[in-house]
Amino acid sequence: MLQSRILSPRRINATTLAADEVASYNPLMRNQQATQLLFELSHPGRRGARYPACDVPDRTVNELLPATQLAEAPPPLPEVTEPDVVRHFVNLSTLNMSVDTHFYPLGSCTMKYNPKRHERLARLPGIGDVHPQQRPEDHQGMLVLLYEMQEMLAEIAGLPAVSLQPAAGAQGEFAALLTAAAYFQDRGEQRTKVLFPSSAHGTNPASAALAGFDTVQLKQTSNGLVDLDELQSHLDDRTAVFMITNPNTVGLFEPNIKRISQMLHDVGGLVYIDGANMNAILGITRPGDFGGDMMHYNVHKTFTGPHGAGGPGSGPIAVREFLGDYLPGPVVQKSVDGIFTLATPAKSIGRVRSFFGNVGILIRGYCYLRTLGAAGLREASEQAVLNANYLKSQLQDLLPVPNGELCMHEFVASAKSVKQKQGVTAMDIAKRLLDYGFHAPTVYFPLDVPEAMMMEPTETESKETLDAFANAVRTILSEDPDYLHAAPHSTAVSRPDEVAAGRQPCLSWMTCPAGQ
Ligand SMILES: *Cc1c(COP(=O)(O)O)cnc(C)c1O
Repeated sequence: MLQSRILSPRRINATTLAADEVASYNPLMRNQQATQLLFELSHPGRRGARYPACDVPDRTVNELLPATQLAEAPPPLPEVTEPDVVRHFVNLSTLNMSVDTHFYPLGSCTMKYNPKRHERLARLPGIGDVHPQQRPEDHQGMLVLLYEMQEMLAEIAGLPAVSLQPAAGAQGEFAALLTAAAYFQDRGEQRTKVLFPSSAHGTNPASAALAGFDTVQLKQTSNGLVDLDELQSHLDDRTAVFMITNPNTVGLFEPNIKRISQMLHDVGGLVYIDGANMNAILGITRPGDFGGDMMHYNVHKTFTGPHGAGGPGSGPIAVREFLGDYLPGPVVQKSVDGIFTLATPAKSIGRVRSFFGNVGILIRGYCYLRTLGAAGLREASEQAVLNANYLKSQLQDLLPVPNGELCMHEFVASAKSVKQKQGVTAMDIAKRLLDYGFHAPTVYFPLDVPEAMMMEPTETESKETLDAFANAVRTILSEDPDYLHAAPHSTAVSRPDEVAAGRQPCLSWMTCPAGQ
């Protein structure tokens, strides 16, 4: 049985009886363990709502549509009552972990708390109900918000030209690289290479390849920083962009960033700052000040947009003045008479998203920025860095952190020594943490740290939560390794075959092999 001491009360109830005991007592409860699909709850003739009898001539579908447009049989939809449907989905929703229910220290993801006030404000009728195809003069209020958002993002970046269009960090990278490509093409330069360190987020090389560049991965130094000699050896008149995350993936601020930018600029290349890690440096330093020419934000990470499971996102980009003409449009402009209008930059790469970007997330980010203000933003970053260093100090004797005395907003610990001594892997620890009511950290990334566990607590967690998490790790490491290899023990699914799930996703209950 689980150590229920540090589980939430709801979880204790759910786990004091084993799942099959619960099901033998009440077969319908089996659904709570999500072992049943909605299709399996189906009984012929059950309905959610029934329509009154038709009081106009009833015409069959065969009279209305040609035979070629008709299916041979109606789709085999589940026949269930409304309470069945509600319970099914509500129960399913509780099987997942979220920032609203659990501590979620997923490194490189900034799973900070999403204030509910932002949700309410984003749904105000004047915001939620405006249609993007209204004439600009009829939705000046929305355009003011978006214009101010552009201005604030420019200020925080230290880069004056902003496009709110991209709908995710990765799309921001892609759009910025197309912007760079358009700039080089305009200048008649043939620059084909995009460089990035081996610790880069996977989206960096993917975006570069999609944008048509050759990708060059650089070795880093043994302490996780950019190797200047290695960088120098790849710099020439074919170099387009160096993409760098700063603070970098192991949570260190790159001490040579100015020098690196100078090296790129000396050969006519550009520096791209992957801004997903802005949570460490808001109001403290700015990409534009340390040599970046372009960057993206992750509004859904840094500025409290709710995210997870692939969306919704917003990845605005900020660039230097000389790149502004190539940005994706439209961008919001303020005319001399104080009217806000939409304009497409002169040599724009075009649209990358419908209308003005993912406005719902931009508004939440806007509320966050306006709530904290400049001083508050800086404080948030300082607190994020403090929390990461505190958690690091609590875990360091168990899971050593190979790089750096102090970290920024996140750190990468290694379970290598635990694996050598006890045969327990980073994956075992991560999986067992789920039983203790904690979302697992990011594991096995970055690739060059063996048994990596990348943790980012964020500023929104209390000391008690961080202590409880560290205690859970401590307890786990005293447990039987065989029990850990089989963890988690309390979730609906224990260890799915992640590779098969990714490569051959089984999306239809009708065609999946049994047991998947
Ligand atoms: C999250 C992240 C990205 C990608 O952002 P998405 O919004 O998920 O596309 C890029 N780089 C880093 C370092 C990230 O953490």
